[in-house]
Amino acid sequence: MLVHIGVDDTDSKMGGCTTYTATEAVKQILAIEVASFKDYPKIIRLNPNIPWKTRGNAAVAFTLETERLEAVFDAVCRAVEANLTTHVDAAVTLLPDHNLDQLRPFAQRALYTVVKMSEARTLCKKLCTYMKLWGKGSGLKGALAAVGNDLNKGDYTYELLAYRRRENWGKPRLIDPQSVYNLDKQLTGLLFNNYDPETGRILITPHGPDPVYFGIRGESPEALLEALHIIKPQEPVDRWMIFRTNQGTAQHLQTELNPKALKSYESGYVRGVVASRAVVCRGGHLYINIEVQSTQIKCAVYEPTGSFRRIFQQLVEGDIVEVAGGVRRAAAKHPKVLNVEYLKIIQLKKTLQPIKPICERCGIRMKSKGRGGFFKCRRCGSKKKAAEFVEVARSLKEGVYAPPPRAHRHLTKPLHRLGLEKKSWDGKMTLRWYWFSDLGDL
Ligand SMILES: [Zn+2]
Repeated sequence: MLVHIGVDDTDSKMGGCTTYTATEAVKQILAIEVASFKDYPKIIRLNPNIPWKTRGNAAVAFTLETERLEAVFDAVCRAVEANLTTHVDAAVTLLPDHNLDQLRPFAQRALYTVVKMSEARTLCKKLCTYMKLWGKGSGLKGALAAVGNDLNKGDYTYELLAYRRRENWGKPRLIDPQSVYNLDKQLTGLLFNNYDPETGRILITPHGPDPVYFGIRGESPEALLEALHIIKPQEPVDRWMIFRTNQGTAQHLQTELNPKALKSYESGYVRGVVASRAVVCRGGHLYINIEVQSTQIKCAVYEPTGSFRRIFQQLVEGDIVEVAGGVRRAAAKHPKVLNVEYLKIIQLKKTLQPIKPICERCGIRMKSKGRGGFFKCRRCGSKKKAAEFVEVARSLKEGVYAPPPRAHRHLTKPLHRLGLEKKSWDGKMTLRWYWFSDLGDL
């Protein structure tokens, strides 16, 4: 029978990595030879605007065909157990495919809002065949959310994660930067966020103590396998695995927020009119007010988003926009603020400039008087309002804007992916989707 296994929170702020545990789990499942993988392991990123999340707020799910449910579940638990760090609240769950639909609404909400542990427990009791928790077990929420978001319909991407040998964990990661730039040249449009074009910064290598060496993000497993030949690692790769994921899909921003009842830590979008021009504050952070259904929403665009802020500085009162992001909770000095991750300019306000009228008596052009839109004749002093106007060209264009790749979060959709969104998954897997140095070549 077809089953789904969810794993979450095996990583903590102390190090460790849920995806590494996932590679260990795959190894354990392969070893017992009683199950076959029906999908790539999935990395599901959950609502990134929850402050108490671990670094990437990722959970992992497996889809398998097996008759030995308990053996497979135990294999995954063994992998989790062997890779536990202290302070983790891990969870593993197993759910039969025929219960999956009942989990979808919960999984959807886990993308954009705060889901409750009590709800996760109730659902798990009703739908899961097996469940195991460590610590406080708060990983149960992510484990269920990953299983319930199967990415069979709608958009998704892939990531190939390569891992380091244990003896190199914690050491600086070396990689040939030119080979990373070459990735983009040779596989244009098929990969994303390898480096930041504004700064040249390499983005495929993380910086923490976790075992990930590098991660290549792309549109297909074939492109990722090709990238593996182009990239020049400068330390031995211990293993790699291809994951299917909601990264780069903006899946967390699909819900329209209620402007009259913004909830802290919720993600989504609002559509409204620019109410007042952007103000840049100390530290380079930018604020702009958008009026949505006669409610003003304060939006923040932070300094690390770099050139993204320049777009907001060119918006004027009356521009119709859609802004998407996460709601920061209110504090003593400020109300709830929407931290902007995305901007869509729907309609730029036409700004008209009056053409200086000609004085009927003297036949010369009048000059601006400044107040009330009146013009005055230099010679005879008569006053008049402009009758003709000319449209002022705007420096902006209507369209979608996002921060530069270095300021992207895992779920941020790169602009070039607009129009490339996938509609469904065909269920086909490449022959090679993992490699372990100690298992030899496939
Ligand atoms: Zn005159």
